[in-house]
Amino acid sequence: MYDLAIIGAGPAGLSAAIYGARARLSTVVIEKMYPGGQAAITDVIENYPGFTEGISGSELAEAMKKQAEKFGAEFLNGEVQKIERQGEKFVLHLKKETVEAKAVILAMGALARKLGVKGEKEFTGRGVSYCATCDGAFYMDRKVMVVGGGDTAIEDALFLTHFASRVIVVHRRNELRATKILQERAFNNEKIEFIWDSVVEEIKGADAVQEVVVKNVKTGEIKSVPVDGVFIAIGWDPNTAVVRDLVKLNEKGYIITDENMGTGVPGLFAAGDVREKSLRQVVTAVADGAIAAVSAEKYLEEHHMR
Ligand code: NAP
Repeated sequence: MYDLAIIGAGPAGLSAAIYGARARLSTVVIEKMYPGGQAAITDVIENYPGFTEGISGSELAEAMKKQAEKFGAEFLNGEVQKIERQGEKFVLHLKKETVEAKAVILAMGALARKLGVKGEKEFTGRGVSYCATCDGAFYMDRKVMVVGGGDTAIEDALFLTHFASRVIVVHRRNELRATKILQERAFNNEKIEFIWDSVVEEIKGADAVQEVVVKNVKTGEIKSVPVDGVFIAIGWDPNTAVVRDLVKLNEKGYIITDENMGTGVPGLFAAGDVREKSLRQVVTAVADGAIAAVSAEKYLEEHHMR
C-alpha cells in the first residue's frame, strides 16, 4: 500500500508528487495519457515565472516528472475507473489492477469542451481538432477556423499563423475574454480575422472538413465559411465523473475544496484545474499540488498512518 496516490500527472499532480516523495511518502502517480496534462500540449508557456524566454509545456512537464522521480515517486500508466474508501484506506480500481493508498490527491484536470454541433464528431481527426499544437502543422498554407475567445483560442490562433495562410476566429460575443497582450498580438496579426457575435451551426465536408456554417447571434444571418480545419477552443469541463458520488462538486462539476485542498473526505484532496478556483494556470496548479501534498502528509501524521 502506498502512503499517497495521485491521480493525474498534469502540473498539479507532478508538483504534488515532488512534495509527497520529498516528504518521504511512498508516492505513486497514475496517469492515463502523458505527463503534463493540458500544459503538455501548450506550445510556449511564457507566464510561468523563471523562464524569461518561455518554455514548452512538454519540456516543463518532463522536467517536473524527472524531479518527482528523483525523489522516488513512481509512475503508473492507467485510468482510474472507481475509487473506494475501505476503512481508512482508498482502493483505486484501474482496468486490470487495483492500487491501495492511505491518502489520495485528485488531479485529473479537465477535458476540452465540445461544441455539440452537427459534423463535429464526424469530422474529429479529419479537420476538427481540439489541439492546435498537435495538429497545426497539417495546415501549411491552408485556411483554418478557431472557435472561442479565451486565452486558449487566441493562443491557438496565433500559433496557427505559423502554418496557415489565414486564421478566422469565430467568437460568440464582440469582445474577447483572452488576456490583453494576446488580444493585441492577434489584432496586429495580418493573418488573423474575426467573425464576431457568431456561433458555429454545422461543420460540413466530404472526406475532410470543407466549410463551417456560422450564424450571427445578433442579426440571425447565416453564412458558410470555407475552411480546411476547425480548432475548437471553448474551454474545459472537469474530469470528475469518477468522484461524482464521493466528493462535493459545484454546479459545473468542479470539486469544492477548502484552502488546504481538502475535499471533506478524510485523506482525500484535490489540486489543479479539477477543483473550483478562480485562476487556472500552471502556476496555480503547482501551488495547489504542493499544498495538497503537505496536507496529505499532515493527515497521515495526525492519524499515525506513517
Ligand atoms: P475560457 O477562458 O473558459 O474561454 C472559453 C471561450 O470559449 C470564451 O471566450 C467563451 O465565450 C467561449 N465559449 C464557451 N462555450 C462556448 C460555446 N458553447 N460556443 C461558443 N463559444 C463558447 O477557456 P480557455 O481559453 O480554454 O482557458 C481556460 C483557462 O486556462 C483560463 O483560465 C485561461 O486563462 C487559462 N489559460 C491561460 C493561458 C495563458 O495564460 N497563457 C493559456 C491558455 C489557457 P465567452 O467569452 O462569451 O464566455
